[in-house]
Amino acid sequence: MDFKLNEEQTAWQMKARKFAAEVLRPRSLERDRITDAFGTWDWDIIKAGSKLGFRTSCVPKKFGGHEIDFVTQAVVMAELAKADSAMSKAFSQCWKWSHLISQACTPEQQERYLKPFMSDDTYVLGMGSTEHIGGSDNRLPPENIKSGMRLSGVQDGDYWILNGEKAFIANGSVGKLFFLNVRTDPNVMMRDGVTTFVIEKDKTPGFSIGKVFNKSGWRFYQNAELVCTNARVHKSNILGEVNGAMKRSVGDNSGDMFGDLELAANALGFCDDAVETAIKLAKTRTQGGKLLKEQQNIQLKINKMAMLTEALRSYVLRTAWEHDQKIKGTNAGLVMNYSTFVGQEVTELYLDVCDQPGVELDEHADKLVRDSFIWSHLAGDTVQQIRVAQKMLK
Ligand SMILES: Cc1cc2nc3c(=O)[nH]c(=O)nc-3n(C[C@H](O)[C@H](O)[C@H](O)COP(=O)(O)OP(=O)(O)OC[C@H]3O[C@@H](n4cnc5c(N)ncnc54)[C@H](O)[C@@H]3O)c2cc1C
Repeated sequence: MDFKLNEEQTAWQMKARKFAAEVLRPRSLERDRITDAFGTWDWDIIKAGSKLGFRTSCVPKKFGGHEIDFVTQAVVMAELAKADSAMSKAFSQCWKWSHLISQACTPEQQERYLKPFMSDDTYVLGMGSTEHIGGSDNRLPPENIKSGMRLSGVQDGDYWILNGEKAFIANGSVGKLFFLNVRTDPNVMMRDGVTTFVIEKDKTPGFSIGKVFNKSGWRFYQNAELVCTNARVHKSNILGEVNGAMKRSVGDNSGDMFGDLELAANALGFCDDAVETAIKLAKTRTQGGKLLKEQQNIQLKINKMAMLTEALRSYVLRTAWEHDQKIKGTNAGLVMNYSTFVGQEVTELYLDVCDQPGVELDEHADKLVRDSFIWSHLAGDTVQQIRVAQKMLK
């Protein structure tokens, strides 16, 4: 297998590296330290990245996008995340849902949703499934009619009336278009009673944004409530079949691997950051009369950090490559699970290398720890691991 990037992939990598170093990194700690959960967001960063194509990179060329392949997506994601994994995710969240538009929407819907997305640097996308009553049940539905999402949808002629709330929705406070999973038949199991609606924020009366969640990690990245109070949505905004959301073959509840690969590549980026920063520290910081790099204990820790990070790099790239080659049977969930383990292990080793600064909450080390633990609450939790195992055991 050839791991060498082609000319186009290298060009994207270099563009991402430059943007990450010049725009993301200098603002990373400054945004992270803002205490107001909404105040951490910075439209200038999004606009600057959008102008370079980082918001729209996955849109098919026929709609004016760049249609970059999965290897390029992984490489760009890792470069951006090396500077700030939360900022990187704000861009890739748009990739995830623009993938869904181009794969699952009708040609008429694609035109309607992708046109404004392509022409507005501040057009950001999101998807709402989780509610206050729980998130795991939506991803691993138990055999119980009462479990899972409750935001309801009732048909009224050509319209649907939605009522309820979603919680913790990424890009929630800043998005202009959302996919919303809605319980359209409460009398059957979730797998048979959920419909996905596309909500254009400014065109949907009764739809509003609620509270923004104040997270410990990924502070730049916005998570908010989405509220429907008799929200009126035309039936032409339904994605696929009524009651067909959980059976869709792309998107969050399916075998579509983009979300898994995206997070694994993001973890690779912050592992690269930890390794590089640890090496710099080892070469410059003195303890007990000698540089850290001369201490065998530190050498062993850096060896382990680099070893795990390089293994993750190979795994991420192989998974992306297999997807581009249309090789069947790739289980991207496994690389996602591996990235959770590696990201947190490498971060812990990095804290060891930092030693005193780590204890004193060196801002950079502190941010890495908080960011890496987002994986435990996101898609790297026990439910994700169970889903991957169930897929293998089928
Ligand atoms: C940064 C971030 C971004 C997010 N973005 C979005 C988004 O864009 N859209 C969206 O819809 N949601 C989003 N979420 C929500 C996320 O999907 C949920 O947090 C996740 O599904 C877990 O749900 P919960 O927090 O309600 O935990 P719960 O479902 O209450 O679970 C609590 C704990 O119990 C475990 N658990 C639950 N059920 C089982 C089971 N059957 N077997 C074993 N263990 C179990 C879980 O693993 C977890 O550790 C985001 C979360 C984060 C942290």
